[in-house]
Amino acid sequence: MTSVPVGRSWTTGIVREIERPTDQLVKIRFEVADRTPHRPGQHYVVRLRAPDDYTAQRSYSIASDPDDPLVEIMVEVLPRGEVSPFLHEIAEVGDEFELRGPIGRWFVWNDDVPSICIGGGSGVVPFVSMMRYAQRTGIDPRLRVIASAQTRERLPYVDELESYGALVALTRENHHDRVAAHIYPDEVKALAFGAQRAYVCGSVGFVSFAGRILGDAGISDENVRVEQFGPSA
Ligand SMILES: Cc1cc2nc3c(=O)[nH]c(=O)nc-3n(C[C@H](O)[C@H](O)[C@H](O)COP(=O)(O)OP(=O)(O)OC[C@H]3O[C@@H](n4cnc5c(N)ncnc54)[C@H](O)[C@@H]3O)c2cc1C
Repeated sequence: MTSVPVGRSWTTGIVREIERPTDQLVKIRFEVADRTPHRPGQHYVVRLRAPDDYTAQRSYSIASDPDDPLVEIMVEVLPRGEVSPFLHEIAEVGDEFELRGPIGRWFVWNDDVPSICIGGGSGVVPFVSMMRYAQRTGIDPRLRVIASAQTRERLPYVDELESYGALVALTRENHHDRVAAHIYPDEVKALAFGAQRAYVCGSVGFVSFAGRILGDAGISDENVRVEQFGPSA
């Protein structure tokens, strides 16, 4: 088994680029001190510290190709959230954040294994890293992606997903000739053909839905790797 690099200690990330593609999304690109190279699928922990030393930390998947000199994250703002609105409203180029990563040994793509990825909303972020890596190295036929969201506007990286050839499944908007609907079993069956592993990422409800349709498409539970975004403890 290939060893997976994991960054165990806290380091500093300086915001070098920031973009707010919509009112609900912020893309931040960090220059990370003493950076440990990542594998597609891993994430970082971002820690905010108030002047009274109160801290809050949250995990964010890495969107960058491992070759990218900056580490990119894409954060969806949650109503009543603590960290995500701060990153959307307050963070600026030049700010320094405490970061720890890359983290995650399980949810990394072993690039020799033909795989299918199913992401819901911001759950597509780790798959963007996988797609970028797959395209750069010319192994994109080994990675198929399904991305789901309510509307096109709510799907991070929608243009990039489309140009990769991902299946975009919108639930509240028609998309080209696809009528608004949840991902349906035949869509998964077609893309799961030949896949030896599945990666699923999104909210708790989305992950259980995707697990069921992968089962119907013939991918057994032990070949499904899951990353779940849920309320922080
Ligand atoms: C491994 C991992 C990778 C992640 N990667 C990303 C990523 O790439 N992009 C991204 O935007 N988020 C990602 N998340 C989620 C992220 O860590 C935070 O949970 C999210 O940003 C909310 O933090 P907050 O402080 O704004 O909200 P909080 O203050 O933690 O919560 C605010 C409110 O929202 C609810 N809530 C919290 N999280 C969720 C959720 N995910 N879905 C529904 N309700 C929720 C809480 O119950 C509460 O009511 C990831 C989580 C994990 C575990």
